[in-house]
Amino acid sequence: MEITDVVCALCGCVCDDLVVEVEDNEVKKVKKGACSVGKSKLMGHGRIKSPAIRENGSLKECSYDDAIKKAAGILAAARRPLLYGWSSTVCEADKVGIELAEEIGAVIDNTASVCHGPSVLAIQDVGLPSCTLGEVKNRADLVIYWGANPTDAHANHMKRYSYISKGYWTAEGKKDKKLIVVDVRETKTAKVADVFIRIEQGKDFLVFSALRALLLGYEDVVPEEVGGVSKKDLLEAVRLMKEAKFGITFFGMGVTQSTGRHNNIVNAIQMTRAAHTHTKFSIMPMRGHYNVNGFNQVCTWETGYPFSVDLSRGYAWYNPGETSSTDLLVRRECDAALFIATDPGAHFPGESIRHLAKIPVIQIDPFANPTTEFADVVIPAAISGIESEGNVYRMDNIPIRLRKVVDTEYLPDEEILEKILEEVRAIREKEGE
Ligand code: SF4
Repeated sequence: MEITDVVCALCGCVCDDLVVEVEDNEVKKVKKGACSVGKSKLMGHGRIKSPAIRENGSLKECSYDDAIKKAAGILAAARRPLLYGWSSTVCEADKVGIELAEEIGAVIDNTASVCHGPSVLAIQDVGLPSCTLGEVKNRADLVIYWGANPTDAHANHMKRYSYISKGYWTAEGKKDKKLIVVDVRETKTAKVADVFIRIEQGKDFLVFSALRALLLGYEDVVPEEVGGVSKKDLLEAVRLMKEAKFGITFFGMGVTQSTGRHNNIVNAIQMTRAAHTHTKFSIMPMRGHYNVNGFNQVCTWETGYPFSVDLSRGYAWYNPGETSSTDLLVRRECDAALFIATDPGAHFPGESIRHLAKIPVIQIDPFANPTTEFADVVIPAAISGIESEGNVYRMDNIPIRLRKVVDTEYLPDEEILEKILEEVRAIREKEGE
């Protein structure tokens, strides 16, 4: 059976025009729409076969009920639990996760705290003159990628939405457009750019400032070289920005996680505002996981804050740097952790992992990963967008409904969390009695 309009639940592009062939309740082929990494996810690999609980150092298979009871017991007994991940699951699961965090007074945090958290902080400071990817596709004649390499990290981004895509006012595709890439090295994306600006590591803030000054007409205050970029190259970039009918800057973790962090993004947004004195210009973060944005949305509706929210006081307390996951773990504050749809074992600093090895860890995920190696309770989940449905937010804040294309006996994240929450409430009620 051929299924159309399937949505890829992998990166922030959330491509929603995939065509897959399903036979005997299995995805046999991805016929259209997906890039190679998207295809590999849809074809499936390395599933966690069964729920399991660690006993005497090794994981022993058990029933869902036993794993859920064990997880609930750990969370109900914890004094400073951390619930982390949430970016590769659906908004419905995120909502139950926040309810669970409220119930047990946990800190809840998503992967934004180690990727585009600085972008979120900057947007809270100065707002975001942005647009949808549809507008970019149809209108943009100047595309800037800054500290981002979509050719490797968001493989369909240029083809579907930006430089290569053909839109209503850009019918000739890249013939109608210019591409500027700003990066510290010549990435694959830089190799196809009309203009590649190589900047020195950690000098993004200075280069944004110089471009702002030039856009606002203060050429005299800009020195002959800024952050490794000559004034001549900066003036050329500004000429292209002024001449564009619609420009867009996509920025990645090369800017958010380099020196200056959220101040870089504040400056990038102000550069966009400076460009408004000449033309229409937008700016957008290249969000990584397919629903990293969705968690920030749901968390803001529910608690007033987008990530790193501490609910231990009985009200929401938000102070990234103090309440973000790695900071809590490095300070050895947490005494239990639940990780869902994420892999801190591969991505957190060694100091955090050393602490995680000493406390009870619960993992909810369809796939085994380095975190499975030290998890005490492992609960396999259905794969969102293949075996279960739900809502996610694309990088441009457009909500998209993931489709279910095959049946499974694995429980969806939302249901696993609901069962844990129910069990935690039962334990607490009993304790109250
Ligand atoms: S670009 Fe991203 S969302 Fe699109 S198919 Fe590739 S991995 Fe999936």
